[in-house]
Amino acid sequence: MPIAALSDLADKAQCPLLVIKVGSALLVGKEGVRRAWLTGLVAEIAEARGRGQQVIVVSSGAIALGAATLGLDKGGRGSLADAQAAAAVGQIALSGLWAELLGSHGLTAAQMLLTLEDLEDRRRYLNVTATITRLLDAGAVPVINENDSVATQEIRFGDNDRLAARVAQAAQASAVLLLSDIDGLYDRHPKEPGAQMIPVVEGVTAEVKAMASADSNSGMGSGGMISKLQAAGIAELAGICLVIGNGQYERPMARVTGEGIGTLFLPKERKGRKASARKAWLGGRLRLKGSLVIDAGAASALQRGSSLLAKGITEVEGVFERGDPVAIVDGKGQVLAHGLSEYDAAECAAITGLHSSEQAEVLGYAPRSAVVHRDQMVLK
Ligand code: GLU
Repeated sequence: MPIAALSDLADKAQCPLLVIKVGSALLVGKEGVRRAWLTGLVAEIAEARGRGQQVIVVSSGAIALGAATLGLDKGGRGSLADAQAAAAVGQIALSGLWAELLGSHGLTAAQMLLTLEDLEDRRRYLNVTATITRLLDAGAVPVINENDSVATQEIRFGDNDRLAARVAQAAQASAVLLLSDIDGLYDRHPKEPGAQMIPVVEGVTAEVKAMASADSNSGMGSGGMISKLQAAGIAELAGICLVIGNGQYERPMARVTGEGIGTLFLPKERKGRKASARKAWLGGRLRLKGSLVIDAGAASALQRGSSLLAKGITEVEGVFERGDPVAIVDGKGQVLAHGLSEYDAAECAAITGLHSSEQAEVLGYAPRSAVVHRDQMVLK
């Protein structure tokens, strides 16, 4: 039975594996770590485990906590060097705290620090999957964060919302709960008069994206509503539900699952079935090597399930090799799909706009059936 309501998150049958992401502002206050609050959340995690559910924690707070300890201004986010130093100091304390509190319920914490590349590279992604699976089988609670001390600007997630969704994909979780400092998604800026919270969203459409504001209320973490919607999109590709709930309460999970306060993103039916695990990984990739701009005819052919042919390509951007992931975009720059290119960038450029009958002469060999085959493509 798929998840259909917030209460299903507390049900072992509907939600055997839950990823819980905890935002920085919940974990760290002006006086340092919010131990009493975390004690309450950990008790709820232990209850979930008692019901037979598996739990993965994605914990933010390393930068905020380290900045407080080192006395760095701007919450440690004044510069990359500050953030990296703050994370190194904060992470060790944070992990210790999770280990101690989970341990008080007889649960074993397992720290994993991931970089963007660990999840973007297919082989490393599968390694992460194997480690998480083994940890869960062994009864541990993985406590995951971005490896902020080594991640540089260009190669970092920067927010744990998308990291949590990627981890959920890798672990094939049933749902992701993003605990934040807001009740859910509002139809406009929550401070605007008449703003209404949306209880259920089916599919992160353009209309839904237009509701998000970039503000993060706390200024502590780096995720705002935009990164939460991106996370919902990543989860959706893998057929995973995502929930935004307010963690600023003593029993935050019970408020979401018992009182039903939060926004539930249900993956919309994608032609009857969710994307395969490999396609979900491809669609959730955040960094691509290049892009293929296509014309309107090719765009509608893609929607009908066709492969991308050179004839429909108008422009090739970036430097990529055969087999690299590329974005397929329309003339306005909107990303329509992610796919693995059958040609390198120079070959793509050489055959752009050509019929297959004209390609052999340019390439010097018989052309492949498509530039991006439909089996190697996921529509966005
Ligand atoms: N990884 C960051 C930290 O631990 C938090 C990222 C976020 O704010 O989402 O401090």
